[in-house]
Amino acid sequence: MFTQDDRAFDRQHIWHPYTSLHEPLPCYPVVAAEKCQLELADGRRLVDGMSSWWAAIHGYNHPRLNQALQQQMAQMSHVMFGGITHPAAVQLCRQLVSMTPEALECVFLADSGSVAVEVSMKMAMQYWLGRGERRQQFLTLQRGYHGDTFAAMSVCDPDNSMHSLWRGFLPPHHFAAAPQCAFDDAWDERDIDDFARLIAQHHTQIAAVILEPIVQGAGGMRFYHPRYLQRVREYCDRYGLLLIADEIATGFGRSGKLFACEHAQIVPDILCLGKALTGGTMTLSATLTTREVADTIGRSEAGCFMHGPTFMGNPLACAVASASLALVQEGAWQRQVAGIEQQLRDQLLALRSHPQVADVRVLGAIGVVESRTPVNMAAIQRFFVDQGVWIRPFGRLIYLMPPYIITADELAQLTTAIGRALDNPALFNA
Ligand code: PMP
Repeated sequence: MFTQDDRAFDRQHIWHPYTSLHEPLPCYPVVAAEKCQLELADGRRLVDGMSSWWAAIHGYNHPRLNQALQQQMAQMSHVMFGGITHPAAVQLCRQLVSMTPEALECVFLADSGSVAVEVSMKMAMQYWLGRGERRQQFLTLQRGYHGDTFAAMSVCDPDNSMHSLWRGFLPPHHFAAAPQCAFDDAWDERDIDDFARLIAQHHTQIAAVILEPIVQGAGGMRFYHPRYLQRVREYCDRYGLLLIADEIATGFGRSGKLFACEHAQIVPDILCLGKALTGGTMTLSATLTTREVADTIGRSEAGCFMHGPTFMGNPLACAVASASLALVQEGAWQRQVAGIEQQLRDQLLALRSHPQVADVRVLGAIGVVESRTPVNMAAIQRFFVDQGVWIRPFGRLIYLMPPYIITADELAQLTTAIGRALDNPALFNA
């Protein structure tokens, strides 16, 4: 049930992501979700192309995830993590330690991706304090995105995340030019020049390099060359700096590898995970690091890592994450993601020659159609809903990152809808 009253209340009182309360964009009431489909209040079903922002990798209403939640709920939904531990957290962290590179063996659980990023930056700063140095600067990449809390925002692309709004409040960091060599391009060594220059110039002040490995997500949906990431790792080693990999969007198979760092065969010193961690059912993040970083933090003046959210290690979230990781470990995702990648290549790359299209790119279960002009958000959203699909573009980016369980027919509905949208100039701003 979703009444006209509910709709009016929503418009008047409830903020949605990046929207104005003054002139809100339309919102579509969803009352149920099953497998790869969202059910609207009026009974229409939409094929989901977004996995609820990279999270619902196994689709919705998954029986094994539901069962994990119900079993945990029957024991306890929550208990504080200070001075207490519980089986759900221990099991999840065991899985995380075994699935991630061997060096990453210490886990900090928190509430959301942005908090994982805050935690990773704090870890890096406290690591340097443990070594007797106060280092508070970070080196990152233009076009990056790491979350909306202030430390995370300070390392997001300055233009996309409107650093101008927070001038004087956000700490200034170093931004290397965004990588230009795409994932499939021939590697051009000059791509790393700007990064190399900045790290050489500022390494004595820098605590860590933070970046999204291979896939720059919300800052532009760009896929860069694995060699770039290898060079970053080499420079971090040369100057003794920590590397933070933000795999909140890419973790658990989305880019075709379990973790995007594997494309470059590098291991970060700190790894941030979130989103798909719980299969998209609950909010939870994990920040993993090495024993050396953890031990060095222990030698800082505080003597411990200074963070401890109320809902740290929430048992419900841990239990469902554990069930989601068990599904990931069973390995069907590899075939599913490879199948999605092939179909996206077959059906989206053909759109490259369309006059409205500036670029099309595909990596793993991510397909991006970049248009020449920005979409008219309200109009294109309505168009997609009328076509029976849920696709939420932003700016000039129309992209798909469906649940891994999507069928070939459902995926074809998504790619067909994008093709039709491109033929409709009214859906784009001049
Ligand atoms: N890092 C990356 C790479 C992300 O894509 C996001 C979310 N889009 C975040 C961090 C922030 O995660 P959350 O929205 O859960 O705070």
